[in-house]
Amino acid sequence: MSGDAATSPVSCASCEACCCRLEVMLMGGDEVPPAFTRQDRWGGWVMHRRDDGWCAALDRQSMRCTIYSRRPQICRDYATGADDCLGERAQYLPLPPAD
Ligand code: SF4
Ligand code: SF4
Repeated sequence: MSGDAATSPVSCASCEACCCRLEVMLMGGDEVPPAFTRQDRWGGWVMHRRDDGWCAALDRQSMRCTIYSRRPQICRDYATGADDCLGERAQYLPLPPAD
């Protein structure tokens, strides 16, 4: 969701937007196009996810965010290579071939 940390060996370019399957809550300062949002059962606003599980703002061909410059704060704060990121990758990406 965020840019790659310079020191991280993990790259979003080699990922399949695993973190863009997570629930993304919207905050007051977010300016996301309304078509990509919905209200949850408690009345809060979140990014809409389609039936395939990914965020509605994700381009399914390139696996890139189509609203990158307007992405929610939660997406901006998500750190590439941090534990949460590694956990999502472990859940969704195929294992690398054994040496
Ligand atoms: S899970 Fe990590 S590597 Fe994959 S797109 Fe999200 S931040 Fe990037
Ligand atoms: S807004 Fe963009 S970065 Fe955030 S979950 Fe959706 S596609 Fe991913």
